[in-house]
Amino acid sequence: MALIVQKYGGTSVGDIERIKNVARRCIATQRQGHQVVVVVSAMAGETNRLLKLVSQITSRPDEREQDVVVATGEQVSIGLLALAIQANRGRATSFLGDQCRIVTDSTFSKARIRSIDAGRIFQALKKRRIAVIAGFQGTDEEGNVTTLGRGGSDTTAVAIAAAMKADACEIYTDVDGVYTTDPSVCPAARKLEKISYEEMLELASLGAKVLQIRSVELAMKYKVPLWVKSSFSDDPGTLVCEEDQSMEDVLVSGIAYDKNEAKIALRGVPDVPGVAAQLFGALDGKAIVVDLIVQNVSKDGKTDLTFTVGKADLVKARDVVKKVAKSIKARGVETDDQIAKVSIVGVGMRNHSGVAAKMFQVLAGEGINIQMISTSEIKVSCVIEAKYTELAVRALHTAFGLDRQDAVAAAS
Ligand code: ADP
Ligand code: ASP
Ligand code: MG
Repeated sequence: MALIVQKYGGTSVGDIERIKNVARRCIATQRQGHQVVVVVSAMAGETNRLLKLVSQITSRPDEREQDVVVATGEQVSIGLLALAIQANRGRATSFLGDQCRIVTDSTFSKARIRSIDAGRIFQALKKRRIAVIAGFQGTDEEGNVTTLGRGGSDTTAVAIAAAMKADACEIYTDVDGVYTTDPSVCPAARKLEKISYEEMLELASLGAKVLQIRSVELAMKYKVPLWVKSSFSDDPGTLVCEEDQSMEDVLVSGIAYDKNEAKIALRGVPDVPGVAAQLFGALDGKAIVVDLIVQNVSKDGKTDLTFTVGKADLVKARDVVKKVAKSIKARGVETDDQIAKVSIVGVGMRNHSGVAAKMFQVLAGEGINIQMISTSEIKVSCVIEAKYTELAVRALHTAFGLDRQDAVAAAS
């Protein structure tokens, strides 16, 4: 008998028929002799709908109250799924984040899980019940409702699997595994049988939303065997696991893109010590995560500082940057939210040169201008104009030999 944590995303619980399908799958797993904990997301589109309601009131919401609103989507899903399991003669108990003591820090809208007390879940399992848990939500030490950031139900699932020492954590979604790139933008994308935690971490942090980044971090830290599978098929899916030799032979294993970032440029900044510390310190003070940073070569004692933040933080970040700009007497602040970051990832890059150069050549060949570049040991990222995203992803996918064999054959 194994303890299995299954997580079903928004599309998988998108309507009542699909919730009934999930109920059948959970019961089938239990009938195979396993203990089943199931984490669910809000029904497809629900979190966006709730955020839109908030935005109709204010563009600068109090994040505590916003979390109170958006956390409700998952409450509906767990109740409906528990009822659907019971309607199928199964036994189920639903739990909100607070009811299974998912304690987080107080960073509303992107809280991090600090601890989980799985006692009540274990009790439910002992009574042969399926425990149905709300993803995405927790409460801080003061009892305030918090949420874990978009895609946070993945993290709830892995955190629960780690806390309960589960035998496997299965993430059920609308694709049957992790692909070489997002199959919805690149029809030639290939499903991977397995991928290393490290590569998955990069892909997730670079925009491959199939898994939330924090869920991969936790899986890697606690060595949780993590599967990505489809809730609509019996395909074995993709295993996210420790790196092995065969993975290092591949130069580029995946391509990711992220259209959720915006660029902020601070122009005419006095080139003196302490300016960057003041700017990024102020952004950090508002819990705004900064991604790429580029500082130009200075001219006449002035320079430009350009960086990217999540689109959701743009209004907040612009307010902060404008204040800093005034105090340091910078020339001005410009923003651009029509950008995308396209990245290539592969552990094989560690031992090979020329990968970045090839990426730049491919983009140049398509007439795509590179606005910012960032590299690490196993990835290269370029910021480009958003309208070229799909073109860039497909061209890079082909150039790095990732196209599915049948797609290659059809094209030749
Ligand atoms: P869920 O609602 O189940 O959490 P998500 O929409 O968050 O599902 O994640 C699944 C989606 O991730 C897929 O539909 C696909 O478009 C996208 N995706 C992006 N990159 C990849 C990738 N490399 N492999 C698989 N799916 C990917
Ligand atoms: N419902 C949340 C979202 O849409 C969490 C999740 O689905 O994982 O981001
Ligand atoms: Mg998701």
